[in-house]
Amino acid sequence: MERPAVPELTVPDRTLMGPGPSDVHPRVLRAMSTPLVGHLDPSFLEIMDETQALLRYTFRTDNEWTLPVSGTGSAAMEAAFSNLVEPGETVLVPDNGYFGARMASMAERAGGDVVRVSAPWGRPLDPADVERAFAEHSPAVFAFVHGETSTGVRQPDVARLTDIAHANDALVIVDAVTTLGGVELRVDEWGIDVAYSGSQKCLSCPPGASPLTLNDRAMAKVLGREDEPRSWYLDLSLLEGYWGERRAYHHTAPITNVYALREALRLVGEEGIEARWDRHREVAGALRAGLRGMGLATNADEACWLPSLTAVRVPETVDDGAVIERLLVEYDVEIAAGLGDLAGEIWRIGCMGHSAREKNVSHLLSALGAVLEAEGYEAGRIEADTPVADD
Ligand SMILES: *Cc1c(COP(=O)(O)O)cnc(C)c1O
Repeated sequence: MERPAVPELTVPDRTLMGPGPSDVHPRVLRAMSTPLVGHLDPSFLEIMDETQALLRYTFRTDNEWTLPVSGTGSAAMEAAFSNLVEPGETVLVPDNGYFGARMASMAERAGGDVVRVSAPWGRPLDPADVERAFAEHSPAVFAFVHGETSTGVRQPDVARLTDIAHANDALVIVDAVTTLGGVELRVDEWGIDVAYSGSQKCLSCPPGASPLTLNDRAMAKVLGREDEPRSWYLDLSLLEGYWGERRAYHHTAPITNVYALREALRLVGEEGIEARWDRHREVAGALRAGLRGMGLATNADEACWLPSLTAVRVPETVDDGAVIERLLVEYDVEIAAGLGDLAGEIWRIGCMGHSAREKNVSHLLSALGAVLEAEGYEAGRIEADTPVADD
């Protein structure tokens, strides 16, 4: 076989305004060029402690069981479902977005019987519907998505939903992939038993080590399981041996990703978690105002607005894919198309972490304006207050 002629690595200089990954802070990239030490080196054990402490700060939790799971957000998600769901248990999940469907799939693979609480794509869950679902199905686990990246909807009333679950003796798993480090999230105060996230969204860190936190009640269930979870790699009772006090080998930690996550979380700490939530709201607010100023419809409902991901309705006369491609090729800006029920109907514009800066928003708005004009769109013809999805 001939040796392939592969040039030195170069990539275009993109501005990442999609649903993740987001732009990585230069300090995080520098941390990734730090030489490796062993995964049991005393210096690395200290780095693990520091990373866990910073994760607790960012999650707003005192949970001892707070760790980065090796892999992307879906690995932390699968760790949550495969450990918390025991075969034969009823698991309640939402059906108002793409990631709720992924939850169902993971819960099923863990042996759970999946039941659903419904809301239209583009709307949050209604607590009354959750109450009805509990009365009907008595689930042992209730999972929902805090920030639905497929629709740009933030689930309000999180504490009300966890109250309903706890009054029915269920455990709550929350998907915080698109909210951790960008949108108000208070794991302890809101009564969340298990939350997982990813690193490449509001934490602006390359994908590869994904935050997970469990309270004592959830961890007691995991440690008291009758049969082992089907995944060996993600078995939290084994991972506890490495990330817990013993620090014994289970699998080799993704050392460079842990360096990166530590630095990304240090940036969260320096900014202050609440100031960071405020910045996301302000910058995304300017984005949304700018889009509406161009006559585009964005998700209108303040009560479930997700600052980290704005969904914009594609005007009828415009081809969504052509706009995405021109933004990328002509302006080096990445945004994304709709998924599932909203494919072809919306664009998804991220405002996450290091990407959530005013200069990015101005660049995106002027680029989008120029591309839309080139595609024949006349600004101002669309009803700006139309919800992105039909109620
Ligand atoms: C991105 C995302 C995931 C999956 O994370 P990956 O890093 O792509 O594996 C899960 N849930 C939500 C809400 C997400 O936005």
